[in-house]
Amino acid sequence: MGKTDTQLADIGHWINGAPAGGAATRTSEVFNPATGEVTGLVRLADAATVDAAVQAAQVAFPAWADTPVLRRARVMFRFKELLDANRDALAAAITREHGKVFEDAKGEVTRGIEVVEFACGIPHLQKGEYSEQVSTGIDQFSMRQPLGVCAGITPFNFPCMVPMWMFPVALACGNTFILKPSERDPSPSLMLGDLLKQAGLPDGVFNVVQGDKAAVDALLTHPDVAAVSFVGSTPIAEYIQNTGTAHGKRVQALGGAKNHMVVMPDADLDQAVDALIGSAYGSAGERCMAISVCVAVGRIGDELVSRLAQRAKALKIGDGMDPTSEMGPLVTAQHHAKVRGYVDLGEQEGARLVVDGRMLKVPARERGFFLGGCLFDHVQPGMRIYKEEIFGPVLGVVRVPDFAAAVKLVNEHEFGNGVALFTADGNTAREFARRVQIGMIGINVPIPVPMAFYSFGGWKKSLFGDTHAYGMEGVRFYTRYKAVMQRWPGSIAKGAEFTMPVAK
Ligand code: NAD
Repeated sequence: MGKTDTQLADIGHWINGAPAGGAATRTSEVFNPATGEVTGLVRLADAATVDAAVQAAQVAFPAWADTPVLRRARVMFRFKELLDANRDALAAAITREHGKVFEDAKGEVTRGIEVVEFACGIPHLQKGEYSEQVSTGIDQFSMRQPLGVCAGITPFNFPCMVPMWMFPVALACGNTFILKPSERDPSPSLMLGDLLKQAGLPDGVFNVVQGDKAAVDALLTHPDVAAVSFVGSTPIAEYIQNTGTAHGKRVQALGGAKNHMVVMPDADLDQAVDALIGSAYGSAGERCMAISVCVAVGRIGDELVSRLAQRAKALKIGDGMDPTSEMGPLVTAQHHAKVRGYVDLGEQEGARLVVDGRMLKVPARERGFFLGGCLFDHVQPGMRIYKEEIFGPVLGVVRVPDFAAAVKLVNEHEFGNGVALFTADGNTAREFARRVQIGMIGINVPIPVPMAFYSFGGWKKSLFGDTHAYGMEGVRFYTRYKAVMQRWPGSIAKGAEFTMPVAK
């Protein structure tokens, strides 16, 4: 929406192919987390604004669903080219409002683009099945048709990538879409809307409503919203699943995580330490696939902790636009206080704080929401810092005697998003992949986010609903299956049939 007199960005919605202010007067502050300054005010949609977006999407649906699949794919091809050309601008917008380092933000955009590349294959992906002559003169075929207006509700930690887990597949399948991004970093969503329009997407097919619970509730209860995809924390995921399904919607709701990395005594320690440092402290630990628990098996514990401590102390922490920074700030002051509170709690609970990042000050960025890397040793499964998702640069080490104890620990945790195993033994790796109750597994790979042509999702309290995100699971989520049986007059047998039809 542009800048106000006070030079704060006025961040609005994107409805029917154009920026929109909406009727609501409520706003929420958006920060640059590296400086702590307010950079904008995002408008928080009320039910009337959400309804305007749903109506635009509902009106646009029939023509878009009828658009030949090749033409829908061509919009995706053009969108992909525009994303490539605007990757740096999108990444800078992410860093400005989220805080993650610029190179990491570029990586996020790239992982989103990969889903668009997948969606470019929709003519192949949306094909049905066909069987001729299932009975004399009768053929059977199936098709997958779009659902209608789909909504996506997304978290702050990937303001480009997570929306792109959803809408490229939904749109390519012939649906229209309403994105409700996180109110903490809302600007990239509007850039995506503009790029889709430039790519030739008809007005109303993709819409953005900014907002908080009021906007989410309006989407969850709106009679014209057919399906809801959600990614965020577990309590809200459960709420979305319950409320959305109670209002007759198809729902997939991805929740929180507590990802373990099991390090076997035979693991390559250099690789394991590199992997732990990158995956625990990258993006300040604000990734749903971040490793937050290191499970040290057998004798490896002391050496592992001492090497991790050296590296955690040496992390380069600063403004995400500083190319030397390895880790940026946390997203908001509130989140900073929450994560810091968990570090205090861990000490009270009796874990050993080996590296304490609480005193960190970044020169010339004293008001930024920075927290240094923190490392706990001797974390126990009964502690809250083990059980709960912290979502910050805090790594806890749990020591276990053997492989069986490691698998038991992983399986007994209520979350089941991702897990990694570092080992040199193929059979241990194979057993691990088969036995763990987790949706995404990395063998000597710390953050095993599936490629766009596979699907993303956790188990247990990390996912509510039946389908994972993107890939073929995404195509299935955003389409309805229809089975058709046909017979033509020339082949019709004479007479009514009163028994169950069987092949003749
Ligand atoms: P969040 O649950 O606070 O917010 C997610 C979305 O829900 C936002 O759009 C927000 O506006 C909305 N929301 C918040 N409170 C709501 C309420 N009471 N009622 C209705 N809607 C509400 O999550 P967040 O802090 O933005 O993101 C971090 C969380 O997301 C972490 O728990 C992380 O693990 C999770 N996450 C999970 C995945 C995954 O794939 N499983 C991926 C990324 C992030």
